[in-house]
Amino acid sequence: MRLSKSFIKTLREAPKDETAKNGALLVRAGFIHKEMAGVYDYLPLGLRVIENIKSIIREELNKLGCEEISMTALQNPEPWEKTGRFADSEVDIWFKTELNSGGVLGLAPTHEEPITNMLRTYISSYKDLPLSVYQFQTKFRNELRAKSGILRGREFLMKDLYSFHDSEEDLDKFYAEVEKAYNRIFDRLGIGDCTYETFASGGIFSKYSHEFQTLIPVGEDTIYHNNDKSLVFNKEVFNDEVLAEFNVDKADFAETTGAEVGNIFKLKFKYSEPLGLKFIDEDNNAKTVYMGCYGIGVSRLMGVITEKFADEKGLIWPESVAPFKYYLVGIGDEGTKKADEIYSQHQDQIIYDDRDSRIGEKFADAELMGIPYRIVISDKTLSEDSAELVSRATGETAMITLENLAQTLAGK
Ligand code: ATP
Ligand code: MG
Repeated sequence: MRLSKSFIKTLREAPKDETAKNGALLVRAGFIHKEMAGVYDYLPLGLRVIENIKSIIREELNKLGCEEISMTALQNPEPWEKTGRFADSEVDIWFKTELNSGGVLGLAPTHEEPITNMLRTYISSYKDLPLSVYQFQTKFRNELRAKSGILRGREFLMKDLYSFHDSEEDLDKFYAEVEKAYNRIFDRLGIGDCTYETFASGGIFSKYSHEFQTLIPVGEDTIYHNNDKSLVFNKEVFNDEVLAEFNVDKADFAETTGAEVGNIFKLKFKYSEPLGLKFIDEDNNAKTVYMGCYGIGVSRLMGVITEKFADEKGLIWPESVAPFKYYLVGIGDEGTKKADEIYSQHQDQIIYDDRDSRIGEKFADAELMGIPYRIVISDKTLSEDSAELVSRATGETAMITLENLAQTLAGK
């Protein structure tokens, strides 16, 4: 990306109503634009972060044999009426709209009903099971409070995965594989150390669901973890009964705050039963399909990573999600000529700050955008056949020979 040719600009100020750190920083750094409370546009840099997060999730889910699809946001009320979830009295965050020809449609807040309904066309025998499908999709929720930047959107991006099985054992086995995949995903996103699998409410036949909670001060959930952090509970289930069940003492737990980045459920028959999703088993008996569902808040993750790593100078992206790995600045005639040449060879990895502005401004923008490495080439560094390389995360500065730089950029 050549900054002189891009429409994006860093901003001195965030919108006045943007009180969340993640929202303010991402707007100022030119990653997102605020339309209104809880509704954001993703600009070129922000979109690249989202795509990087999606790629990591996609890779890990594809390894489990999951297939990617894309379902509609517009919802026919029918399947939702069968589960009782179309009524505003049951689900209070619906956005609904009316057809000109008459009738109401919903904007999907999640997709259990339509996916279960759709798969009635494709599942009929035990031979069709197990199967698992997922999507990255925009969800709509009429959230009462939308003051947390992209941590809580009224329109947001979720990865939702649904699995279908012929037995409880098979569901359990797959669920355990998803747990492991989720841990790998959060490790790769750079938040493995501070993301805890947490017992939460909402389980159907397993009593609990599992949430993945990333510890950040602005997290909206209160969670309790023991000293070695192997046992973590959401406040909603942390009561005397649960303490007794796990044979643990309240005093051994510390209270902290987390942001829910993922949530997994063994649904069993919760949706397949009312929607009539059945299969014929080997003995020719009709049976109800076992289901699980597994969410990850993709856009929320971008906000969580922002909150976790940002410092007073701006964003700090882990390399795995950074929109670009390098921020390149050329100084002086020879330095600029060399920078032009390097950029032209490695455009996909580099933000090239070729704008006609002061060096100090360029460096400040590199820091605000949180690009992992800044490369500076000047007449002075060229006199040593080198470039200067500065790490955003550690501030470490090193000279790198042009030869090594070329190899690094070429991924050697
Ligand atoms: P919360 O308790 O934070 O409202 P939830 O339990 O209602 O979330 P789920 O239905 O489990 O959310 O959705 C799956 C994932 O989608 C969540 O784990 C979270 O990461 C993300 N998510 C949920 N609501 C929002 C939102 N309004 N904005 C951004 N991400 C969200
Ligand atoms: Mg949840």
